[in-house]
Amino acid sequence: MIEPRQVICVILFGRTNYMESEMSKKELGGTIDSWCGKCKMILAHTIEAMVGDKPARVHCNTCNAVHTYKPNEPGKAAVSGKVRPSRYKTLIKGSDMAAAKIYSPKEKYEPGDVLQHPSFGIGVATAVKDGTKVEVLFEGGSKLLVQSA
Ligand SMILES: [Zn+2]
Repeated sequence: MIEPRQVICVILFGRTNYMESEMSKKELGGTIDSWCGKCKMILAHTIEAMVGDKPARVHCNTCNAVHTYKPNEPGKAAVSGKVRPSRYKTLIKGSDMAAAKIYSPKEKYEPGDVLQHPSFGIGVATAVKDGTKVEVLFEGGSKLLVQSA
């Protein structure tokens, strides 16, 4: 005689197993979408090797090329997102952080000066506009700040 509670346990257990098999597509021999450098497209690939729980090597179901697993098209999103911060980082690298001045509209700044702004953080002056404004590149982008003439 099976008690109702046991039946519920079996149903729950069965459901967990089902959910696991749904999620375990990332396993050896499983199919996964990956970028194929030969086809130049995101295509279905078969997983050939795993590192931890991540696919390491896959083969393209379309052209059979074997390569590392790439979830996204290489370069695209990554490159466009890197352009601005890299310019900021290059500027910051070449600047003397110890010489950072607390920004004040009463001060006068020259291109190359390192400023510390209460909201924008550390920035580097890149240009003086009209003598009374200074363009400063912060991590979040360029800002035009008022300065003393
Ligand atoms: Zn391919």
